[in-house]
This record gives sequence, structure tokens and C-alpha cells, in this order.
Amino acid sequence: MAKQDVNRDDVLAALAEFDALGREPFLAQYGMGKATGYLLHHGGNEYDSKAILAAAHGHHPGLAPLTSDEFYGGEGDAVKYLRRLGFVVPPTREPTWTRDELILACDLVRRNGWKSMRAPHPDVVALSDLLQRLPIHPMEVRGPKFRNPNGVGRKTSDIATHHPDYQGTPTNAGATDLEVLRDFLEREDEMIAVADLIRNGVNSGDLVDASEAVNDVDELDDDEAPEGRLLERKHFARERDRALRDKKIRKHLQTNQTLACATCGFDFTAAYGSHGAGYIECHHVVPLHSSGEVKTRLSDLILICANCHRMIHRRSPWLTPDQLKALVAANA
Ligand SMILES: [Zn+2]
Ligand SMILES: [Zn+2]
Repeated sequence: MAKQDVNRDDVLAALAEFDALGREPFLAQYGMGKATGYLLHHGGNEYDSKAILAAAHGHHPGLAPLTSDEFYGGEGDAVKYLRRLGFVVPPTREPTWTRDELILACDLVRRNGWKSMRAPHPDVVALSDLLQRLPIHPMEVRGPKFRNPNGVGRKTSDIATHHPDYQGTPTNAGATDLEVLRDFLEREDEMIAVADLIRNGVNSGDLVDASEAVNDVDELDDDEAPEGRLLERKHFARERDRALRDKKIRKHLQTNQTLACATCGFDFTAAYGSHGAGYIECHHVVPLHSSGEVKTRLSDLILICANCHRMIHRRSPWLTPDQLKALVAANA
């Protein structure tokens, strides 16, 4: 079988066949059950997505219809292929809250004296609006209730009922919810600064632009991004600024012979000869929440090798260069 061969026209042919036969006979024809979740939306109608893909397969020249046990119906299989061909298959549940979103929600609960809030409250509505503008979850994974005021209200309960001062029975909160709450309780000033930066950055469009420019740094998980994903992307954008990096290297070479790593001493030229000459990465030692929106100073950058750079960013909170240096020394 070759689902990747199915094209848009094959799917359109299957949709036309569904319309001509009617739902029940169409499903019977392909030995499929009714979709319990994923429905393909097209021309104002809804279609059972798995059955449509099975039929589309049969409409492709040289291929037979798929049988029910040959593939799955969810996000990872049928839905993925149909969306890839440009069809709308709305998700059945809203995406999990990311750290960025939870930082904003937690900050709201904090401002409300760690009490939960309900939908008509203007601050809940405002947060719902902001969350819908965050460039984190792509449109195609958002359901019809994506971060609506009711959902935001429920999230404030998840946070508030896990605060140590809360007396009643807590709701079922997620692991990241609790992590962000803990961070707020342990490092309140820092988390407030992070929330401000995310809010201002999204409202000014600054973080939205940064996320478009550096989408390729999405490889880090939420738990490695202490300031959330949006600020993390901005952090990497700062570090990848060519002009700044070149300036830093020029300045460094005025007083140093080599571009050896500031933490472990690795020298790309020594290790790889002319192939490695001039290579070194820049790490910005000041987190965004403490530097704010100020211009990067050369003294805030250090030159380190790719391995050390990875290790600094591996876990939250990020290691300082001195902490990493100590680790390298302790394990030598
Ligand atoms: Zn190094
Ligand atoms: Zn870095």
C-alpha cells in the first residue's frame, strides 16, 4: 500500500462518491465504521475521514481501496495524509498547554491572589485573546474551543487549586502546570519578568517575527526552555546573529591567539585543520528575563564549542559557563 501516492483528486473522487451513495452505503461499500472523532470538512459537509482515505486509495490508478486493518484513523495516519493534501480535518481535542501559555496563565492567577477565575472576567477574556495570538500551535491543530475563555478559566483552577494555601480538593493538573506553579513560587520575580516579556513581545509582534525567522530551533523540549519556547527562539536568534558573532570573534582575536572554547578549551582548527578554521558558537550568558529588550553587548557573549553549547542548554535552568566548566573539570 502507498498512502503517499494518493493525491488531492483521488480524495475529491472519494468525496463525490460519498455524496452520490450516501453515508451508510458508502461506509458499507468500504467495510468501514462511522468515525467517532475525525471528520473531514468539505463544501459544508462532513465525511468520515478514515473511510475517505480508504476509498481515495481505490480511486488512484493502479491501487485498490485500503481495508480497515491496513491503516489507522487518527492524527498519526489517515488524518495526517488528508491534511497534507490540504483537506480540513479538525482535531478532536485541543493541544496540550505549553510552558509559555502556562507562564501567562500562572501570572494571571498570581495577580488574582492565587484564586481561580471565571470566563466572563475581562482578564480571562484578555488572556484567551492573547493565547490565540501566540505563534505556538499551528492553526490546523487548533479545535473550535482553542483557548476559549471557559478553557482559560479551567486552567486558572488547575493552577489555583494546587497552590499550597488552597484547602479543597485540587483538580487534575498536568505535570507542566505544576512545574510552572513551582517556578513561580520559588522564583517569582524572574517568572513575572518572563511573563511580561512574552506578553509585550507578542503584542509588539517582536516574538512573532522571531519565531518565523528561527523555526528550525524547535528541537528543544519545553522542559529545556526555562523562559518558554518563544523567548527561547529569540535567545537563539540573538546568538545566531552573524554580524554580532563576527564582531565578537574579531574582538576576541585582538587579545587571543585562537578561537578555543571558553569552557573546555576545544579548538576547531586544532581538531579539524583548515576545515574547522574560524568555527565557534556564540552563547549569550544573560537570560532574556534579566536583560530585557536591551541591545546585546559583546561582553554578554562567550565563544564556546558546539558540545558545550548543547550541554548548557540541555536542561532547565540553563547552566552558567562556570557551572559547565566545573562539570568538565570534575569529570576530566
Ligand atoms: Zn567546549
Ligand atoms: Zn546559548
